[in-house]
Amino acid sequence: MSKLSRRSFGKLAAGTGASAVVGPMLVPFAIAQGAAKVVIVGGGAGGATVAHFVKTAAPNLDVTLIEANATYSSSFFSNLYLGGFRSLESLSHGYAGLRRLGIRVVHDYANAVDPKAKTVRTRGGRTYSYDRLVLSPGIDIKYDSIQGYSRDVARIMPHAYNTDAAQKRLLKQQLQSMRDGGTVAMVMPNNPFRCPPGPYERACMIAHYLKARKPKSKLVILDPKRSFSKQPVFTEAFDRHYKNIIELNLSTELDDFSVVSVNPKTKEIVTKAGKRVRADVANVIPQQRAGEIASKAGINDGDWCPVNAENFSSPKVPDIYVLGDAAIAAEMPKSAFSANSQAKVVAADIAAALAKKDKFEPRYRNTCWSLLAPDDNVKVGANYTPKGSKLDPSGSFVSQRGESADVRKQNYQESIAWYNSITDEMFAKTRPAAAGKKG
Ligand SMILES: Cc1cc2nc3c(=O)[nH]c(=O)nc-3n(C[C@H](O)[C@H](O)[C@H](O)COP(=O)(O)OP(=O)(O)OC[C@H]3O[C@@H](n4cnc5c(N)ncnc54)[C@H](O)[C@@H]3O)c2cc1C
Repeated sequence: MSKLSRRSFGKLAAGTGASAVVGPMLVPFAIAQGAAKVVIVGGGAGGATVAHFVKTAAPNLDVTLIEANATYSSSFFSNLYLGGFRSLESLSHGYAGLRRLGIRVVHDYANAVDPKAKTVRTRGGRTYSYDRLVLSPGIDIKYDSIQGYSRDVARIMPHAYNTDAAQKRLLKQQLQSMRDGGTVAMVMPNNPFRCPPGPYERACMIAHYLKARKPKSKLVILDPKRSFSKQPVFTEAFDRHYKNIIELNLSTELDDFSVVSVNPKTKEIVTKAGKRVRADVANVIPQQRAGEIASKAGINDGDWCPVNAENFSSPKVPDIYVLGDAAIAAEMPKSAFSANSQAKVVAADIAAALAKKDKFEPRYRNTCWSLLAPDDNVKVGANYTPKGSKLDPSGSFVSQRGESADVRKQNYQESIAWYNSITDEMFAKTRPAAAGKKG
């Protein structure tokens, strides 16, 4: 295997393509053994990638990853589980690969940061000191954004919108045990939220399941927004594949379909416009905010965390980086692809700073694929370059209505390659070489 120069690492940092980029071999940054400590909170799309890349870039760094769960259950591709295209197990990933690299993986919940002492404390009572701290805690659900909703009610009306595997399983079980002719309701969140096309891909996946198994059933969408990501291709799919199943209620100037209250006993949902839906299955996706460790570290501004666009460091507290869904990354959407791309910039920036070397020119990228129906997949994406405090998009693309079946099928294949590639990178997995291929 050839070694990559540090300049190539900068290029690599641009993002995960559909092809796998696993365990880059680098000319390592020279940092004396134990000379510096990097602590990362959150072992998801952002944090796990930072851990992998920073340790590979500077193997002598003392890297600790604090992650609440022993197994990561990806939100991305969880809609495919609901549609019957994947198992829940296929979304689950462990941390053995990162441990093999020499990263200290601690399964505990970080609940305090002292930026002056440069320490992180955990629920388990441990304290970790850092030279650089990376926070990638993803989202917390704002349970109180809907009257009647709560953490307990989520066990009756699941959101299934974070890394909790039990939430995904519950929603699927509810769909499976619903009678044919029942009503599924989806409560959509207002901007900004995790994965802009995610709820609409979910609508397609639920409708696909209903069409195949419970064709007399309906899916009612209640949406506080007037428009949404990839709307033309989603609404084309609603018409083409799910005409008598999906009822889309988008808000207008006259009718506001923001949900004001839910009743877990009757499963009734009430909107501002006065529409009432009595659901058999209610998927309630409330408003969201950065994971709570962000506010405990004092790096948030309201619900989300501002960042310096050139490296995702916090403008509020020195030596702390924040990336992924918790960050306000201007126009860059909250996606796993974005988080992974940001993570490579963060890793390179930390390694260069600690080795007192020149930094790389940062580049970011995002692509979000959405499955509409079997082999019918659409995508949206762009590159992003820091310009002042903003991230300037360029080279953007989005799937169009009326595309050929071949294009849509190719998108689907790309999306599967991307899932394998990003989870390989996050968890430093090594896949067996393809049959017949050696060395
Ligand atoms: C239905 C759905 C579909 C999606 N589809 C796509 C898609 O197709 N493509 C795409 O790119 N993105 C998709 N996404 C979005 C993607 O899942 C997120 O954008 C991405 O996971 C964000 O990465 P992150 O690192 O910010 O957070 P996460 O990946 O959620 O990781 C956060 C981690 O931090 C841990 N954590 C939080 N707080 C603490 C703490 N205090 N102490 C210890 N650990 C902590 C959590 O346990 C979690 O493991 C989808 C999301 C959903 C909900």
